[in-house]
Amino acid sequence: MGAHFNLALILLALATPIAFADDPSPLQDTCVAVSDSTSAVFVNGKFCKNPKLLTANDFLFEGLDKPGNTSNNLGSKVTPVFVDQLPGLNTLGISLVRIDFAPYGLNPPHTHPRGTEILVVLEGALSVGFVTSNPDNRLITKVLNKGDVFVFPIGLIHFQYNQGKTNAVALSGLSSQNPGVITIANAVFGSKPPIYDEVLAKAFQLDKKVIDYLEAQFWVSN
Ligand code: MN
Repeated sequence: MGAHFNLALILLALATPIAFADDPSPLQDTCVAVSDSTSAVFVNGKFCKNPKLLTANDFLFEGLDKPGNTSNNLGSKVTPVFVDQLPGLNTLGISLVRIDFAPYGLNPPHTHPRGTEILVVLEGALSVGFVTSNPDNRLITKVLNKGDVFVFPIGLIHFQYNQGKTNAVALSGLSSQNPGVITIANAVFGSKPPIYDEVLAKAFQLDKKVIDYLEAQFWVSN
């Protein structure tokens, strides 16, 4: 009997995925995020608001018509509409960002650990690309014009660059309520505390002085 039970457990473990690549499926119609746990009725991601207390504003975000401030070293600004900005997104596996680019503005190489990104250019033109995983590390690039749509698969390093002399604007949908962002330069050279010099020097085949120089830069978060 015990042996059968153990066998059943092993079979169950083999049949059950160890991890999901994106958000779990919703378990109810709505799960508007609330920070006050005393008013919560279900938990799936963040605490859920009592459905009887819903208002339309729980599902509303206003102001995405307003350009982001691109006055930074990168010349770009990402305005997120994630679950923290739009509580009604909780458990729904989707979100949105607006990305503004000054002339020659760059959204630097980064990845989203929990979401695929689908981008549409609303104004201007963007040179975009992503790099496939090891060992190929193939760069897939395209120049996008107004109305063009491009997809960046989950987890892959990607960028968007405005090579034009005018502003550019894009909207991106992401397949997570909280897709996360890892900006490569910031994570590698701007971690707190810093990654050991010898680790980065060996990893990037650089002199430690160059690593110190890179770690001393201000890695702006756009
Ligand atoms: Mn992105």
